[in-house]
Amino acid sequence: MTKRLFIVILSFCILPVLFSFVTDPVKPNKKQTLKTIIIDAGHGLPNSNAEGKYSYESQLTLAMALKLSERLKEVLPDCNILLTRTDENLPGGLKDKNIANRWRANFANENHGDLFISIHVNDLEPRYQRKIEGYREETYTVTVGKGKKKRRVEKTRSVPIYKSYKLSCDRMGTETYIWAVNKYDQKQNAVGSREGDQFGEKDSSGMFAESPDAKILASLRTKKYFDQSLAIATFVEEEFKKEGRTSYGVKQRNNEGIWVLQATNMPSILVETGFICNFEEEDYMNSEKGQNEISYALMRAVLRYKQLLETGSGVLADPPNVNISKPQ
Ligand SMILES: [Zn+2]
Repeated sequence: MTKRLFIVILSFCILPVLFSFVTDPVKPNKKQTLKTIIIDAGHGLPNSNAEGKYSYESQLTLAMALKLSERLKEVLPDCNILLTRTDENLPGGLKDKNIANRWRANFANENHGDLFISIHVNDLEPRYQRKIEGYREETYTVTVGKGKKKRRVEKTRSVPIYKSYKLSCDRMGTETYIWAVNKYDQKQNAVGSREGDQFGEKDSSGMFAESPDAKILASLRTKKYFDQSLAIATFVEEEFKKEGRTSYGVKQRNNEGIWVLQATNMPSILVETGFICNFEEEDYMNSEKGQNEISYALMRAVLRYKQLLETGSGVLADPPNVNISKPQ
């Protein structure tokens, strides 16, 4: 087929279909199913990251990721649910958190994920208060007298012993991130090199051809993934609100970006499940009740997202027509 003929066919047959998904992200698409979901427990030792009064971010993200994975396996038995890590350590046997983040994105891409969910907990700059815990005796010397009578005299005084106490932060609640505006090109590069992409053309080196057609299609697909990421991020926050949580909504981290969101070639979100610096919320995230509610909200968001892809509606029947165990 000549290139010109290919472009004509592309213009008349494929682009209108793709544009319809771009302009209407909730349009039903029977072919599009959620086969593989990647669940990423943020951080991992030696990078425990945010620190509460008695627990670490890396512990909580793992506990919640494992719970979410169990729930999704139960309600979506035909889906492939993959975790980036299942123990306390950084994934891939790595010691460097930045290299581990690249590993996470590569893991998702190599396993042909259809959705990437990274689980984190939030933090604010720690605040401390100094309190007097007791007193101790301190010895010091003074000079008394004049001339030949001048001498040093030892005296004692009582000095306070201070101790620093970490203060609870005022902020409580959740927020979900999608990739940043200024990382759009990076996301598009990742999406454009998606293996198994029906439009991707591999050249002799095994790399995907950077033809203008391939770039246009990658751009359209990236736009579609953006709409889909926004949809599931919105569902996550809506489901948290139903559990009585405070929601700060869907956000983007525009200056630094978030590697795992922009380097994965699929719709991707990062969920901040609560503030570890808030003592009440730290207790909640460590509790069975809290972990049940958080994993339940995330599971419902995934089910609504799957339904959106398959039927065009993200309004999940309530009670849902799947076997969901409600939080205790
Ligand atoms: Zn984090």
